[in-house]
Amino acid sequence: MRIYSLVLGAVVLTAWAVRSDADALHVVTTTTDLAALTQAVGGDLVDVQAIARGSQDPHFVDARPSFMRRMRSADLLVYNGLELEIGWLPLLVDGSRNRQLQAGEQGALNASRGLPILEIPTTELDRSLGDIHPEGNPHYTLSPLNGRQIARTIAIRLQHLRPDDSEQIGWQREQFVARLDTQISHWEQLTRPWRGTKVIAHHKQWEYLTDWLGLEIVAYIEEKPGIPPTPRHVRDLVRLIETQEISLILRSTFTDTRPAQRLAERTMARVVELPAAVGATDGSEDYISLFDVILRQLGTSFPTAEER
Ligand SMILES: [Zn+2]
Repeated sequence: MRIYSLVLGAVVLTAWAVRSDADALHVVTTTTDLAALTQAVGGDLVDVQAIARGSQDPHFVDARPSFMRRMRSADLLVYNGLELEIGWLPLLVDGSRNRQLQAGEQGALNASRGLPILEIPTTELDRSLGDIHPEGNPHYTLSPLNGRQIARTIAIRLQHLRPDDSEQIGWQREQFVARLDTQISHWEQLTRPWRGTKVIAHHKQWEYLTDWLGLEIVAYIEEKPGIPPTPRHVRDLVRLIETQEISLILRSTFTDTRPAQRLAERTMARVVELPAAVGATDGSEDYISLFDVILRQLGTSFPTAEER
């Protein structure tokens, strides 16, 4: 049976391989994570380009005319939603003059649909406070458990736009999810000893990851998402690190290095710099390798048994 499926797979692959590149669906995504997931399920049926670089803060991207030109001929825009791109995506969509990419059209896909979103505010936010997570925490791609659902959401839309390729897209999604699931089991086994560890984070962007791994974020360098810390808040954090014996401070490659560094200098805690998106650092070129790098970085920074 196994041999039969392998042979069948090879035959189907051969049949799929005759397509020309000109037929590829042109997809623009706002982030590199969504580009990687689209590529994983779309394979050679899609030509994908991300707007924000992996090393860039996705909340703040310049709405450049070159992005508008790229979007003008796109068949599909996949975006994060939850207002992650509120400061720049509406300008790009307008500037692209591509009606298909307007919200509600088949060419616009909000990838957050159907996901369990964390930190949805229960009271109305005062935006003058600068909170940049008004619809809940938008950094949901940082749990591989969500990667499965996002792959499904993207695959369904690709199938809708390319019904003739529905079978191939479905097969590619299954292959990707199977690989991801294998890795998830491996990662969970590897990180089991870390469960219950308390950490401090710079920006509210690691909650999906820490929820999955069972780590506890006890405080943030940013008092509110997007707001730099006051000297008083830094003093409070120093006290907290000392009283609760916190050994790790998580920050992404794009956040200001200084506040975390200052905290580390005044305490025994270590700063762990993590890629927060595909392509943010060497080796994190696709969705699965992103977690390999994140967990490797965390693993090398965790205190050893003697240090604890
Ligand atoms: Zn954020």
